[in-house]
Amino acid sequence: MELIIDNLTKTYANGVQALNGVSLTIPQGMFGLLGPNGAGKSTLMRTIATLQDADGGTIRLGEIDVLKSHEAVRRQLGYLPQEFGVYPRVSAEVMLDHIARLKGLANRSERQQAVEALLQKVNLWAARKRNLGTYSGGMKQRFGIAQALLGNPKLLIVDEPTAGLDPAERNRFYNLLSEIGESTIVILSTHIVEDVQTLCKRFAIICGGEVMYVGTPHEAVTMLDGKIWAKSIPKNEVDAYRADYRVIATNLSEGLLYIRIASENDPGNGFAKVKPTLEDVYFRAISEKMDLVTL
Ligand code: ADP
Repeated sequence: MELIIDNLTKTYANGVQALNGVSLTIPQGMFGLLGPNGAGKSTLMRTIATLQDADGGTIRLGEIDVLKSHEAVRRQLGYLPQEFGVYPRVSAEVMLDHIARLKGLANRSERQQAVEALLQKVNLWAARKRNLGTYSGGMKQRFGIAQALLGNPKLLIVDEPTAGLDPAERNRFYNLLSEIGESTIVILSTHIVEDVQTLCKRFAIICGGEVMYVGTPHEAVTMLDGKIWAKSIPKNEVDAYRADYRVIATNLSEGLLYIRIASENDPGNGFAKVKPTLEDVYFRAISEKMDLVTL
């Protein structure tokens, strides 16, 4: 099954054009949606999740017309929103059972089986009787995945799930997501390049409501081979360099300012060719839309 988004547009009542002709084909597996704050990621996620309407365009999930058949989509959909609130005084086990009932799992023993399997899957079985208010950020996110997976969705949407997780929790969460991606379409919205690098077979860069790039991380980096250059400069010269070159990143290290620029040809002036990274791809793509990008 594929999710096919075609020419999706959305302008909010305040005049902000959040989606400006977004077209994407998303196959099974982990698909990253990478973009800065305000890019339109949440608007796109919420539209796919049938929580808000678009002004124009179409979305198809297999045979389902997503913008028209909300109920049919919801039966196939798991969604972990950016702001995922939990009832602090309820245990994970009780809460999951409750959500399972709301999702229509009426048979008690089937429900118990589903809840147990999910608690095992997200590694919260040992903590199942603890109130959700005592969970760490990573545990809450894993609980969020468990509730999203109730009913075996074909499409899982996770919106900025790794923000605020410490490195160990992030790793655990990555492992869980990549396992789910083996059998599900997973859309991971993020502004963290590492999330995409680690997890995603394919990804899109979105900025200002437009798709700036779509492909594999490897293709994206290869495309920039021989086009990224770096040097260290005195801090007070950065504006002059910005005027002369396409600066895609500036980095302070040990008191020196390193700048990375994109240039098709050797820019001379002491710049050395460096190996491109996915961050270069990202910042180069969004620098087309934004005047100034500072790392
Ligand atoms: P992202 O998730 O990439 O940060 P959003 O989809 O939340 O981006 O926002 C895209 C743009 O739309 C931003 O400029 C944001 O301020 C604006 N926006 C989002 N939601 C609303 C809303 N309900 N009303 C008006 N503007 C909104």
